[in-house]
Amino acid sequence: MSKYSLYIDGDLISSDRYFDVINPATEEIVAQAPYASSAQVDAAIQAAHKAFPSWTKDESSRSVALKLAAEAIRKRSEDIAKLITLEQGRPIHFAIGEVAGAAATLEHYANFDLPPLLPLRSDSEKFVAIERRALGVVAAITPWNVPIILLILKVAPALKAGNTVVIKPSEFTPLSTLLLGEVLNGIFPAGVLNIISGDGEVGAQLSQHHLVKKITFTGSVATGKKLYAGAASDVKRLTLELGGNDAAIVLDDADPKAIAEKIFWGAFWNSGQICFAIKRVYVHERIFPQLLEALIERAKAARVGNGFEKDVELGPITNAIQFEKVKYFVADALKHGAKIHTGGAALAGPGYFYPPTIVTGVGEGVALVDEEQFGPVLPIIPFSDEKDAIRQANASPFGLGASVWTADAQRGLAVVRQLDVGLAWVNQHGDIHPGAPKGGFKWSGLGYEGGLRGYEEFSELQVVNAALN
Ligand code: ADP
Repeated sequence: MSKYSLYIDGDLISSDRYFDVINPATEEIVAQAPYASSAQVDAAIQAAHKAFPSWTKDESSRSVALKLAAEAIRKRSEDIAKLITLEQGRPIHFAIGEVAGAAATLEHYANFDLPPLLPLRSDSEKFVAIERRALGVVAAITPWNVPIILLILKVAPALKAGNTVVIKPSEFTPLSTLLLGEVLNGIFPAGVLNIISGDGEVGAQLSQHHLVKKITFTGSVATGKKLYAGAASDVKRLTLELGGNDAAIVLDDADPKAIAEKIFWGAFWNSGQICFAIKRVYVHERIFPQLLEALIERAKAARVGNGFEKDVELGPITNAIQFEKVKYFVADALKHGAKIHTGGAALAGPGYFYPPTIVTGVGEGVALVDEEQFGPVLPIIPFSDEKDAIRQANASPFGLGASVWTADAQRGLAVVRQLDVGLAWVNQHGDIHPGAPKGGFKWSGLGYEGGLRGYEEFSELQVVNAALN
């Protein structure tokens, strides 16, 4: 059984304890990941702390290192992508796309220059200026749904801004991240980038360490709230990218046949395991039957299977816990009078396969509509009054994304601007502009990732104010 290594202070090292990583398509063990001991968590943080002063001084070598990291990842793209498919389940062509996106993100930050901050005052009496200072050691804690791109979206700006990092991937998908230790070995000075693995306890130890100055986290609302509370005692900086319950509102003038394919992918890409997947669809009653029919037809045609098989569109649910949750949401919906039009039961094993499932007959008060299912089960809800559809979409503690579908983009913009979300789309769902900050309203997050605003979360502003005579 192959065993992966931790990456601490420039060394690939073993651990006393390992855990199995399961392939969700076969339920077989892919390999073993090291469970970082408490001393190893501390060593990784100490190494990052020690590496910080010289790393933060030398901005030009940071750009060079990020470019080299992009090249190194491209060279090993196939190996990294294979591991993503093995541990996460996504079809291999999507995994290759994820790795390409990670390399492009590293390059983007290598070339990223902040607009200079001009002095507020500079004359014979006074010099007053705002300057940026990196924070120090950043803890990057990541989830299992899109392990590499979500990691690089944190690590690339953190490093470019002059911080050092300790990374903790999800215990369900640690291997692709641990492989980066090997792929990037030698590119960054020892201690600048460290990778430890383990479960939530390892994450908790990392996030509470006194030398960690910032936590950047993507994951569940429950864990995000714990991190928020835990960060208070030390006033640690925090960026939280949490869950969502994105609504798609389809207005009466939309063309059901034309939009069904896009709504299908907006909801079911990665088997629905995306924070900003469409998780409920509100459709004007005039076109409800046609859109429902088109979505059922598309879902029935979906090719679900092992991500290494040719032409597979949707892989398995990534882990047994999430698989059980998906089954629970469907069982609960049925108890509340739901009608299942296609799917609705797990496929015969092995593997955590659940086909795309279209549900009607549910609304507010049912878990499938009110909570985040994070799986391939989509409730379709009719409406007659646009205002009420907007009210229902906003009646959620989440506020990540939403989309409005219509023949008239201006009308769509007017509606989407009334939705309380950080990502507001018209006639599409999920497109992320490279320069845009991504963040959620309400429980969906705190702070931003990406864009200038996201980048600035990796530094403090220091105002220097000198009396010159
Ligand atoms: P999910 O339900 O998507 O697995 P989690 O929020 O549990 O989401 O996990 C996201 C990441 O947070 C994982 O790397 C996990 O190990 C880590 N984690 C879980 N609990 C804690 C915690 N209390 N403190 C820090 N990290 C944690």
